[in-house]
Amino acid sequence: MGTKSIPVGFHPVRRDHLWQEQIHDSYKTKGKLAEPTVCPQCGAIFHEGRWQWGKAPAGAHPGICPACHRIHDHFPAGFLTLEGPFFQTNRDEIMRLVHNEEQRERAEHPLKRIMDIEDSDSEVLVTTTDIHLARRIGEAVHHAYQGELEFHYNPDENLLRVHWTH
Ligand SMILES: [Zn+2]
Repeated sequence: MGTKSIPVGFHPVRRDHLWQEQIHDSYKTKGKLAEPTVCPQCGAIFHEGRWQWGKAPAGAHPGICPACHRIHDHFPAGFLTLEGPFFQTNRDEIMRLVHNEEQRERAEHPLKRIMDIEDSDSEVLVTTTDIHLARRIGEAVHHAYQGELEFHYNPDENLLRVHWTH
C-alpha cells in the first residue's frame, strides 16, 4: 500500500470523521466579502454568502475566488491517486467517471474543480481545489468498482490525500 509515501502531517482518517475534522482553510475568505463579488478569472459570483454560477449583476466587485486563487498558486487541497492492475486495464472508463463526477459537482459548486491530472505509467494523480471533491470522486470510483479506498488528512493545512487501488 502507498501508506509509506504519505507525507508528514497527514494521518489516516475515517470517511465519516472527515466532516468533523475540517477546521480551517487558509483559502476560505476571511471576514465578509462585499456582495455581489465576481471572480474575474472564472466568472463565479459571491452572492448570498456563497460562491455560485450566474450572471454578474451590474456593479459587482471584482475578487478572485478561492478556487482560482489555489489554481494560481498551484496549491491543491485534494490529492486523489488512482492505481492498480484493474485501474490500468480500465483506465479510460474510470477517468470518464472522474470527469463526470467533477462536472456534476462543479455545476453546483464553483469552488470544486479538478486542477490537474498527472498521468504516469503506474498511477494517475488528480488534484482538486477542494478536499471534498477529491473525497467525492474517490467514493464514486470506489462505489462503482470497489477496490481499496484510503484517506489521509492534514488538519494543519486542511489537505486531503485519497488513495484508491484496485
Ligand atoms: Zn474564480
